[in-house]
Amino acid sequence: MDSSRLPKICIQRLKALDKWSGNKIHYNWYTQLKEKLSKVGMIHIINYENPDIIRKELPNLVEKYVNHHVSKDVESVLNSNYNKMYRCLSALGFKESYLQIHCSLSKRRILSQLRISNENRFKFFFKGNLYTLETGENCTICNLQKPENLIHFLLNCPIYSSCRKKYLTKYIDRSLDELGAQIL
Ligand SMILES: [Zn+2]
Repeated sequence: MDSSRLPKICIQRLKALDKWSGNKIHYNWYTQLKEKLSKVGMIHIINYENPDIIRKELPNLVEKYVNHHVSKDVESVLNSNYNKMYRCLSALGFKESYLQIHCSLSKRRILSQLRISNENRFKFFFKGNLYTLETGENCTICNLQKPENLIHFLLNCPIYSSCRKKYLTKYIDRSLDELGAQIL
């Protein structure tokens, strides 16, 4: 590109500002791009001016960027304080198997909403209705004086034991008590 063209003038100016001690990354997309490329070890691309060479490098760049973000996601899952169960549920960057199950979308939605719940937050929508658990209060269905959270609802509350046996037990290869104790 001719150096008299406005885009060329802009990029040269941003490059010059990038070297300036008072450069503000928020206002300089060249610096932002440089940081993103250096995170995935592709900083050399920033100096290429030939679009054919950049196009050739593009698939490699995209793959590295995807891998970078998948590994960041996995790290977040493993260190999540929001949901300590999630590290046991997640496929850690691979396809989540529950999404491959042949069932209605509404059932998959329930599974998704259960997976993003945590001990103190449980609510989901099903067929236009909102369902919640009052996790700050004790379960009013049984008399165990236990908090009404997802673990109690799914694994421990004796009032739901017949439903649990019918729908859940066959999917759990350990005893429910053992699983509940491990998650807690
Ligand atoms: Zn209960």
